[in-house]
Amino acid sequence: MIEIDTNEIALELKDVVKTYHKVPVITQLNLQIKKGEFMVLLGPSGCGKSTTLRLIAGLEAPTAGEIRIAGTNRQSHAKASDDIAMVFQDYALYPNMTVYQNLDYALKVHKVAKAERQQRLTKILATLNLTAYQDRLPGQLSGGQKQRVALGRGLAKKSPIFLLDEPLSNIDVQLREKARDEIQNLHQANGQTIVYVTHDHLEAMALGDRIAIMNAGKIQMVDTPDNIYNHPANLFVAQFVGTPQINILAAQYQQGKLQFQGQPLPLTPGQAQALAGQGDQGLDLGIRPEHVLVHGQPAGQPAYPAQVAQIIDYGRYQQLTLALNGDTTLKAITTNNDVTKDTTVYLTFAPKHILLFDHSSQKNIEK
Ligand code: ADP
Ligand code: MG
Repeated sequence: MIEIDTNEIALELKDVVKTYHKVPVITQLNLQIKKGEFMVLLGPSGCGKSTTLRLIAGLEAPTAGEIRIAGTNRQSHAKASDDIAMVFQDYALYPNMTVYQNLDYALKVHKVAKAERQQRLTKILATLNLTAYQDRLPGQLSGGQKQRVALGRGLAKKSPIFLLDEPLSNIDVQLREKARDEIQNLHQANGQTIVYVTHDHLEAMALGDRIAIMNAGKIQMVDTPDNIYNHPANLFVAQFVGTPQINILAAQYQQGKLQFQGQPLPLTPGQAQALAGQGDQGLDLGIRPEHVLVHGQPAGQPAYPAQVAQIIDYGRYQQLTLALNGDTTLKAITTNNDVTKDTTVYLTFAPKHILLFDHSSQKNIEK
């Protein structure tokens, strides 16, 4: 983990453990978030994202470990501080207040002047297409509308630390992009420290300065979207980001060479170094669909013959399912639309795009 200068840390989780009824939900979580950083927590449902956010907000106490905000240990079960706003996954709106009152309440409590409140709320209501609903009660709103109110309430507070738990999950696609842009604009304008939870890898890539990928209560990797995508720490990370998923194929390291489907593949210097001195072993070879190059004729060395089993035409590109010898299939993305179903094509992989994972530890051999 990269150590960050203490003065630059807004938020820190140190050896945090959370168990419910003796069942560990968060196991040893360490994370440092910089001031003004947009940090995304990404992971499958049930991996502990909401729990982590509730711990940061002070709504729950860790079973072990510390949560430090601006260098100070958060008291266990301390009430969420004025410095923190949170958008809850289940909205948590006040049922007896109108949309406008829901948005206004926290600002009033924090003694924001009336003119300023009105100005902020008018803009937020308009951005989130809620102006026409401002006098309704939450019970009179759809799920997507309630979620927009919850998001608006968090945005209005402009607190130094802003926690968002899947805030766009129930919002229609067009409005979701608009809301996403608005979150980004506000972050740029106000420099808030943001912790944003999502299970959607595209949303994570679009928003995060850095992404912390979680699985089963553990952080798998914390890095920039670019490094997460191109240099994943392990198989889980490689497979969780990217559509269609990265191809994972069985390869062998034999007598200092990489073998795939009976032909040698070149190793990058980094891979050669990581494997130097190691014995023969099976490796998992990862190659993203856009890096599988499809040719009509054998091209380059080595080229693997494959049958075109399926073509999905997305207009902008085609997604191919290709069958290699035996029962190995892989996916490729191509913009070359003269590929025909049930014909033979020839595949090459650029060595710099090949990832290799240790078969037992599932770690990227270069990490
Ligand atoms: P995520 O937000 O990533 O979907 P959560 O943090 O909500 O995951 O939950 C992680 C795990 O902890 C789940 O298995 C969930 O059932 C369990 N869990 C969450 N809250 C409680 C609770 N209050 N009591 C018992 N188990 C809980
Ligand atoms: Mg959740």
